Amino acid sequence: NQKPVFTRASAFGDRVAIIDSSGSHSYKQLYDSSLALAGQISAALRTDFGGLQGRRISFLCGNDASYTVAQWAAWMSGGTAVPLYRKHPPSELEYIISDSQSSLLVAAHPCAEALEPLAQKLGLPCLTMPPTSNLSSLNHTDTKEIPISDWANQPAMIIYTSGTTGRPKGALHTHGSIQAMVQCLVSEWAWSKDDVILHTLPLHHVHGIVNKLLCPLWVGATCIMLPEFQPEKPHVKDFVKAVCKDRIRLMVSGSAALPLPTLQRWEEITGHVLLERYGMTEIGMALSNPLRGPRIPVRYFNAPGVFLCFTVSGAVGTPLPGVDVRIVMDNTTNTTIVEGTHRETRRYVRSGLQSKEGELLVRGPSVFREYWNKPQEPMSPSLMMAGDTAVYKDRVYWILGRSSVDIIKSGGYKISALEVERHLLAHPHIRDVAVVGAPDATWGQKVIAVVQLRKGRSLTLSELKSWAREHMVPYTIPTGLVLVEDIPRNQMGKVNKKDLLRCFFS
Ligand code: ATP
Ligand code: MG
Repeated sequence: NQKPVFTRASAFGDRVAIIDSSGSHSYKQLYDSSLALAGQISAALRTDFGGLQGRRISFLCGNDASYTVAQWAAWMSGGTAVPLYRKHPPSELEYIISDSQSSLLVAAHPCAEALEPLAQKLGLPCLTMPPTSNLSSLNHTDTKEIPISDWANQPAMIIYTSGTTGRPKGALHTHGSIQAMVQCLVSEWAWSKDDVILHTLPLHHVHGIVNKLLCPLWVGATCIMLPEFQPEKPHVKDFVKAVCKDRIRLMVSGSAALPLPTLQRWEEITGHVLLERYGMTEIGMALSNPLRGPRIPVRYFNAPGVFLCFTVSGAVGTPLPGVDVRIVMDNTTNTTIVEGTHRETRRYVRSGLQSKEGELLVRGPSVFREYWNKPQEPMSPSLMMAGDTAVYKDRVYWILGRSSVDIIKSGGYKISALEVERHLLAHPHIRDVAVVGAPDATWGQKVIAVVQLRKGRSLTLSELKSWAREHMVPYTIPTGLVLVEDIPRNQMGKVNKKDLLRCFFS
């Protein structure tokens, strides 16, 4: 069964694979166009068909069928696909093309203008695809057979991380690790050929590439691709109204913490409790709430002397099939607190340790092979440190945030910046917030809320504190407030908190 996704496409024949603004594209059409483009790629690099042997091909496409054709063509020619993102500035595109040491660039028709100057600057050949409505006009090659050998171990993609904590890192995935990502989601979220998915996500990130595109293409389902998410566009509004409650079977959230007001509002509008999952570029999805059965949005806090009950999001379920996780004490001692597989989680019960938070480690067949072009980083980590802090409680895993910036140590307490953010977002005047720990001579660190207010609203620190006393555990209440016009976020909507701290507290 170790075959890349496109080899299944020919079996799905005339079924509709992708619907985009140019119309419908069947599996067979995508397959044929990809094969033809693969021939052009091989010819441009003067290699035998299928013989690129892991040479990198960077491609820039919009959210439509041309993306799949470029990706499959890179694979059919034996190359490693490196997806670029339309909204990245030229400097970021250049960084990824250069860092991945790509041999060739492929541009969808509307993206040629952005890519050609870079191709010239870097001295690389650049192929431009025909418009998506006319993909079948690609010149056909005589090649019908794709040489397939040892696909599982062959490099398939370099996917760059979101660059939240530094420069994006290229995570090299093999066809085997990508297939493992796809298969575990297909079984856990019960993908079938009768599914139709609405795709509006960026396509340089594992959520958009794997969860939303390769999974449907693996089972023969249909993917409706919109150029981007624009909630005010009538087609999205109509779509939501018409089909939400009765006809959508699954709505998923992930890639960053899900704010509680979003979870609640989403349920009001759609009647669905979002399924929150946790994952990363290096492993794909690792933890997921269940498709069937309760998704736990309720959490009880036991603060010293008081019993408080809150509803918060942040529970990301249990390990997906094949994924092993561990929560360990701070890396100095490496004491295991919790060890979990898809089937069961074991707590290592030692006094006071059971429900402690710790570093999350992950392992499984979907783990990437290596960080590309980063000899200083570990290769093939068998048990990979995710860089996040987690806790196991109420039979599910909770993500408390990035260990390096989101766990604020103040007066002997460990405070999750994500949890504080979730609470503050419920404040009626707060539009957006990022919580950071600033150095403090007395407490070690203090909790600071960097806040963007709703239009025409005001907020002082003492107003915030008196509101928070009604809603939050006392030691988690911010002792500093910074008002900003806009919270800087990267292309995936994530905040680089080290930069934010440097900006306000250095
Ligand atoms: P970089 O590694 O370049 O700093 P990044 O870690 O943001 O960027 P991704 O691989 O896209 O790049 O994101 C993975 C991270 O996203 C996880 O390590 C975790 O911090 C966060 N994340 C993913 N899902 C969730 C979730 N459900 N709740 C909280 N955080 C999440
Ligand atoms: Mg990361």
